[in-house]
Amino acid sequence: MKDADEPVSLMDLVFNKKAKEKAGDEKSLLARKLFPYKTVMCRSCGKIQVTMGEEMFRCRSCNKINRFRKYGQWNVLLKDYPTAEAAMIEAKRWAMEESQKDEKA
Ligand SMILES: [Zn+2]
Repeated sequence: MKDADEPVSLMDLVFNKKAKEKAGDEKSLLARKLFPYKTVMCRSCGKIQVTMGEEMFRCRSCNKINRFRKYGQWNVLLKDYPTAEAAMIEAKRWAMEESQKDEKA
């Protein structure tokens, strides 16, 4: 039988605390209410667009429905903003970044 109060090293305590904080962060990010404007990338065709969908969006390019979350995890790349303008700026910047990636490949 294992002794319940066996000594724990300081490193164990630090490590466990960090692991718990990290899990908590991801959970709260998943659970938190998103801002109304989301810059998203379609999982199917890679089109970057802005949506006001609450839990999913329909791609303007390929018409596929992308759920934001699946099985308690993020399913699409998503950045949320309180204003349409901020989301549009990010969509432009992101699309530019992706096109540069393609050129390098
Ligand atoms: Zn698409």
